[in-house]
Amino acid sequence: MVISNERLQAVQADIKKAVTKRDTEHIVNQTGEVTLLAVSKAQTAEKLREAYEAGQTKFGENYLQEALNKQAELADLNIEWHFIGPIQSNKTQLIAQHFTWVHGVDRLKIAQRLSDARPADLPPLQICLQVNISGETSKSGVTPNALLDLVRTVCALPKLTLRGLMTIPEPTDDEALQHQQFKQMRDLLNDLNKQGFALNTLSMGMSSDYKVAIEEGATIIRVGSAIFGARPAKVSLEGSN
Ligand SMILES: *Cc1c(COP(=O)(O)O)cnc(C)c1O
Repeated sequence: MVISNERLQAVQADIKKAVTKRDTEHIVNQTGEVTLLAVSKAQTAEKLREAYEAGQTKFGENYLQEALNKQAELADLNIEWHFIGPIQSNKTQLIAQHFTWVHGVDRLKIAQRLSDARPADLPPLQICLQVNISGETSKSGVTPNALLDLVRTVCALPKLTLRGLMTIPEPTDDEALQHQQFKQMRDLLNDLNKQGFALNTLSMGMSSDYKVAIEEGATIIRVGSAIFGARPAKVSLEGSN
């Protein structure tokens, strides 16, 4: 039974509207569809179950141990789990075993370890490379200049499938700047495809800017607070765990 969930429905309606405002040349995959990833860090397993019952099947988590606990509690549900947090080397084995997608890969060492640890009986891990598009020195992500080399080497790893790019741009209320940063991501993806890669994923847009991200070509938006409400305290955007 599908139960209603007002915030989720409001986000879904916004997605539809933003898709219609998109210029056709901004569509980067074949379908033009947008996948809603529900970012559930700091939310209880019960909240995830409610969203699942309202039709949401893809969830993004930032903190490994918290995610593993929820996966155990929700093992009866057919959830697709995405790891979207920063990745430390000593966490790669469990991430490779317990997730379908990983969005925050920004260096070869991590990609190599994920590929090595991906169990042989599972399909390749679906990967997005995180790009530091706003050039903030504190941010994780590969620089646009170093991207091509990383794409080449990651594509050669056997147990990974490189799907595209991910970014967390500098937070800003300036819509023109939001557009500009997301457009730069689309341009990077298109440039890679012109060089022969087949990338169809742009993971970009969060609660405050997902409509703009969709207009500029996002194929996966990562939305937390707009679905679940404000997060309980003590969780930072790029917390390490
Ligand atoms: C927390 C987080 C989000 C979602 O943020 P909201 O503002 O709550 O939508 C998206 N992406 C990443 C990488 C995050 O850490």
